[in-house]
Amino acid sequence: MTVAIRATDLVKSYSQGVRALDGVTLEVNSGEVLVVMGPSGSGKSTLIRTFNGLETLDGGALDVLGVSLDATHGERQVLAIRKRVGMVFQQFNLFPHLSILDNITLAPIKVQQRAKASAEQRAMELLDQMGIREQAYKYPAQLSGGQQQRVAIARALALDPEVMLFDEPTSALDPERVKEVLDAMRQLAKGGMTMVVVTHELSFAREVADRVMFMDRGQVVETSDPETFFSNAREERSRRFLNQMQH
Ligand code: ADP
Repeated sequence: MTVAIRATDLVKSYSQGVRALDGVTLEVNSGEVLVVMGPSGSGKSTLIRTFNGLETLDGGALDVLGVSLDATHGERQVLAIRKRVGMVFQQFNLFPHLSILDNITLAPIKVQQRAKASAEQRAMELLDQMGIREQAYKYPAQLSGGQQQRVAIARALALDPEVMLFDEPTSALDPERVKEVLDAMRQLAKGGMTMVVVTHELSFAREVADRVMFMDRGQVVETSDPETFFSNAREERSRRFLNQMQH
């Protein structure tokens, strides 16, 4: 099995001195779906942002797809990794003045120098895969949140990433729009994409995760297969969190 991400003893402090990451060690295998759960402020977002160089580290070693992103990494490593690791955020961050199609083809054309016609063809395939092909010529404001988030996923996939990171991708959506985004992510997982997903969606985690990692106060409390985590979590802190989530 190939390891896509190997993190060893990651430490990150923000200026106020709180350790957002306080010695995090984990591995993500190629083709694996790792779901990261934990209370607000436990360091989940900081952790996955380090995986594509959006956060610098204060300590530890981080290897993403063979590129070292540890405390001493430079701009070159970050650029190398951003081309290979896609990320989807809570907010969709689409360009409001560009059509859906142009939102998706912008980076392939500008960054990867792909020909316009081939970038557009790939974009249409991805929109099809996301179930929103008919939205291609509209603008973001004309789409629902769930549709916009699926565009954001298609936009990340247009760069042919080897790993996809999701930071609470359904948290900003109306409840009735959550399922369509989770379905798109489920399809992606089935296709073998390596994924790290921060989410509070318990049934998604239970069904799609290969492993669930539970964090609290910048530390990994436990990493278990979903069946164990949801029915018989090893740690008291995990069980308490799950209890609160279910009530
Ligand atoms: P989570 O994603 O689990 O909610 P975060 O990674 O966002 O957790 O935050 C972890 C800790 O780091 C929290 O104490 C949070 O207040 C702090 N933190 C996060 N981002 C910043 C920032 N940009 N500046 C200062 N503190 C931050």
